[in-house]
Amino acid sequence: MTTKVHGFAAQSATEALAPFRFERRDPRPDDVDIEILYCGVCHSDLHMAHNDWGWSVYPLVPGHEIIGRVVAVGSQVSRFKVGEHVGIGCMVDSCQHCAACEQGLEQYCEAGNTMTYGSRDRIDGMMTYGGYSEKIIATERFVVKIPDGLNLAGAAPLLCAGITTWSPLRHWRVGSGSRVAVVGLGGLGHMAIKLAKALAAEVTLFTRSADKEADARRLGADHVVLSHDEAQMREVRNRFDLIIDTVPCQHDLNPYLPTLALDGTLVLVGLLGDLAPSVSSVPLILGRKAVAGSVIGGIAETQDMLNFCAAHGITSEIEVIRIQEINAAYERMLKSDVKYRFVIDMASLKSHGEKA
Ligand code: NAP
Ligand code: ZN
Repeated sequence: MTTKVHGFAAQSATEALAPFRFERRDPRPDDVDIEILYCGVCHSDLHMAHNDWGWSVYPLVPGHEIIGRVVAVGSQVSRFKVGEHVGIGCMVDSCQHCAACEQGLEQYCEAGNTMTYGSRDRIDGMMTYGGYSEKIIATERFVVKIPDGLNLAGAAPLLCAGITTWSPLRHWRVGSGSRVAVVGLGGLGHMAIKLAKALAAEVTLFTRSADKEADARRLGADHVVLSHDEAQMREVRNRFDLIIDTVPCQHDLNPYLPTLALDGTLVLVGLLGDLAPSVSSVPLILGRKAVAGSVIGGIAETQDMLNFCAAHGITSEIEVIRIQEINAAYERMLKSDVKYRFVIDMASLKSHGEKA
């Protein structure tokens, strides 16, 4: 049994997103059936819609920063009730028994996690479709609670931008006395600043954009460094314990490595692909420094991050759009023209005459 659902999809790497009707399964005993209220727009949605990583399957319904309301639950669901506000991020399932899953690190599932869109369901083999749609169904193990008090639209980006920056901050034990730098002030970057600041770190932004300085300070940055200004880069040599690099495309890492302190780590979360130009090992060897990578975060860690955000009054800075504006939003995102996350109000999908 399936249900017809409205959404927006890309039909190929070169076509704009357009209305699309597709099928969702009826809830299984462990499933939560969710009406989607808001969905954040991640740069990964754009990479996937354009097949930048080479593994997109079309039609593709993007969206993995999902906030919704529970409308039904399967007979075995114990953690959720109809009417509650819940979230779904980048994954909807994993093998549940490999070494990574057993540690709550489902994002590193050895068998590969089931992504919220563009994957095949582990049980029925149906394609998964994301949050640019009116409803979604997922096993309760991959659904998180949205704590009371968080603005629902502003909380949507926490499900990817929030957890993707929170996970390395926690893994590298950032806290009081830590010096953290963030490269790029976009969706991920602005969450990294807010979260690092709330963890009591001293926070620096590396940016190409001089006009973002005031915003960066308002968001919590103690310092702003223009990455193309060699004098400013020299001033922060040997400074940072952790650099979170959110740049979405190839860029030279060499200017950043001397700014790491002894034992410091630059963690890539933005670029998925080859590093170019090549990275010199000299600062790595002479300063026992590391270049690392990190992907999203586990489900328990995502719930911890949401609870932390509720306790600290943290949400994303957002610009709410209608689903019909999604292609223009992608164009603006390519120009880094968003402050600092687009969030789709999914009520717009119900607008007269605009359904598929
Ligand atoms: P975004 O909102 O577009 O922000 C990216 C920022 O990077 C821009 O605001 C800009 O900041 C900087 N930037 C853009 N182009 C650049 C260039 N050519 N050279 C140097 N800096 C540049 O993107 P996002 O949603 O934060 O996502 C960032 C990346 O993370 C994407 O590639 C996305 O796919 C990836 N991602 C990874 C994970 C993961 O789990 N690892 C999760 C989510 C997203 P300034 O103007 O300040 O320089
Ligand atoms: Zn994302």
